[in-house]
Amino acid sequence: MMNLNDAIQECWDKIDEGQVATYIPGLAKVDPYQLGVYLFDVANDKRCQAGASRVRFAIESVSKVITLLYAIERLGLTAVEAQVGTRQTGFPFDTILNMEITKETHPLNAFINSGAILISSLIEEEDGQSPFEQILNFTREICNDPEITLENGIYQSELRTGDMNRSLAYYLKAKGALNNDVTTSLDTYFKQCSMMVTCESLANLGAVLANDGIAPWNGERIISSAAATYTKSVMMTTGLYNESGTYSVKIGVPTKSGVGGGLVAAAPNHYGIGIFSPALDHAGNSVAGLALLELISKELKLSIFKY
Ligand code: GLN
Repeated sequence: MMNLNDAIQECWDKIDEGQVATYIPGLAKVDPYQLGVYLFDVANDKRCQAGASRVRFAIESVSKVITLLYAIERLGLTAVEAQVGTRQTGFPFDTILNMEITKETHPLNAFINSGAILISSLIEEEDGQSPFEQILNFTREICNDPEITLENGIYQSELRTGDMNRSLAYYLKAKGALNNDVTTSLDTYFKQCSMMVTCESLANLGAVLANDGIAPWNGERIISSAAATYTKSVMMTTGLYNESGTYSVKIGVPTKSGVGGGLVAAAPNHYGIGIFSPALDHAGNSVAGLALLELISKELKLSIFKY
């Protein structure tokens, strides 16, 4: 394995090129000068970590990977594919514009906010468990991290500043795409964004995806092979929003970002990778995190288009 401390040093200055998310007050308080990584080598069952790898941070949009997988497990891939597309928007993740311009009733993909809210709305209360309780349990399972909890400060922040998400949800309801209660669907979405994870939790999530849906730590299948393949493909094409093409070329590994500064990457049959660095680029992706992932991808030869 490569020397991760050296890699972190090499990417450290990139932090100054970004800014922490300020539109969610709970995230604006986070120290930008953090960079951590956890690598899970699935093929050789080896793990290594460096930097701020044990710091807990808000999962934010990385949770969209988990709710997509959970919805596919509960409802089947065909039902989910009827709700969201697999196309890029060319617009920021929270825009309502693309839906107006394309005149689509359903969101163009599962990783923009409208798509993710719609996916969360599909999860129904079951056995007395709210949609969010089910998502939290599933997150703990697929991240192999029983300590993941909801951070109330972040959740309250999301509630206070979530008017764009509210407008997206009501838009979807008005168009007939969202069939459940808007308030419950939004509450599930705000809560799922407020779960606290570490680089290790995200590396474990990436490892399950890289390992075709089987948890490498106990050999048990958590998600179907079809769900893993579908989700990795959508991560590759839309996981980094309107910069997905840029990083498809530079990194070549299915990756999903969150405005908390988290990244999950899944290099098929090789690695699950979790990265954290809270300073973001204009699209809401971790700047130093992506620089580090690019370095790791080149060093370990991970691009799915080359190796
Ligand atoms: N909670 C954030 C939002 O809805 C998540 C966005 C993100 O991480 N890209 O705006």
